[in-house]
Amino acid sequence: MKESDMIDHRRLGRELELFVSDPLSGAGLPIWLPAGAAARHAVEEYVRDLERRAGYRHVYSPPLGKRELFELSGHLGYFADDMFPPMRLSADDEFVLRPALCPHHALVFRARGRSYRELPLRVAELGGMYRAERSGVLGGLSRVRAISLNDAHNFCALDQVGDEVREILRLIGEAHAALGVRPAGFRLSLRGPGEKYVGDDAQWARAEELLRAALDGVDFTEGRGEAAFYGPKIDIQVVDAAGRESTISTIQLDFDKPERFDLSYVDADGSRKRPVMVHRSLVGSMERLFAYLIEVHAGAFPAWYAPVQLVLLPVDDGQADAAGDLARRAEAAGLRVEVDHAGSLGARIRDAARRKVPYLGVVGSREAADGSVSLRLRDGRGLDPMPVPDALGLIGRVVAARSADLLPGA
Ligand SMILES: [Zn+2]
Repeated sequence: MKESDMIDHRRLGRELELFVSDPLSGAGLPIWLPAGAAARHAVEEYVRDLERRAGYRHVYSPPLGKRELFELSGHLGYFADDMFPPMRLSADDEFVLRPALCPHHALVFRARGRSYRELPLRVAELGGMYRAERSGVLGGLSRVRAISLNDAHNFCALDQVGDEVREILRLIGEAHAALGVRPAGFRLSLRGPGEKYVGDDAQWARAEELLRAALDGVDFTEGRGEAAFYGPKIDIQVVDAAGRESTISTIQLDFDKPERFDLSYVDADGSRKRPVMVHRSLVGSMERLFAYLIEVHAGAFPAWYAPVQLVLLPVDDGQADAAGDLARRAEAAGLRVEVDHAGSLGARIRDAARRKVPYLGVVGSREAADGSVSLRLRDGRGLDPMPVPDALGLIGRVVAARSADLLPGA
């Protein structure tokens, strides 16, 4: 078996019960099972908190909207081939499943008058969107038709764009370190020959110059003809187990949508100005992110987003109460914990290893009697028996630090 088959996220997703693709649900419409959902939930909470502390304001907006919204945004003009066909309720009422969140976030900006004092206004959402991918290209989580995107739109004055992009690059680096994402490269995607771009030459030149300046000190390649139809972008690439490259994180400048939605703010001198819209995703869609994370960790996620962090193994029935009590204390401490009673101790240890659970807690008669537990780590290391509060504290410190190692740092 090739290395790439062994760490294919589809095979691991099935074995670890992370997600399922059921033909009755439809190709490219996977269902996240409890283990996959637990890991994703931990990652979503982390990203939302990272953004909140960086000045982002989160919103909720619906995954479908009126046809007119996407005509105004330009998506139906430029992107219709990738969208599901509109749904007609009546002659003057047609809806489309959105292919992007930007139109709704433009409406957030213009929900009321805006002042220069509010900029940069950072509107964030982990929201649903849809792509009418052909069934031949769909597979597991890497290419899907229903996408949950970590998205934000940062509305800035033109002279704020450089600092804003640099700060986004910093946040991307922080998120990658916590998740274990190893970027394969940064790409500055520029306009190429062709007609499918909007905006004038001066805007494009200015936008490309701003992104190039923000990348000062970063190794990057340039991709001619790789830009979005509305502006140039920085894409951060990863390579999957089969060697295929894809984009996880992106920063895109847009002079076009503020124009289309007639967005404006009142500047310090009282004049009306057009903001620049920066589309950015720190970690991409949850689907593509997890396709990558499952493979890069071979299913053994860092403890902070492991679906089950601790499995307790009473050696025999005499320790069932002690193990149950320990499980309640671990749960109260915020850990995801299970007790496994079924079968021989050796079989249960092998099963937890197969499920890539980071911590095993063995409770024998001696541990039950003196209120201790023997921790075994996923990598095979075993620790001496320690008091239960010490064991929970050790795991809690590793989780809180979002460390890749299973023991706290010195
Ligand atoms: Zn956008």
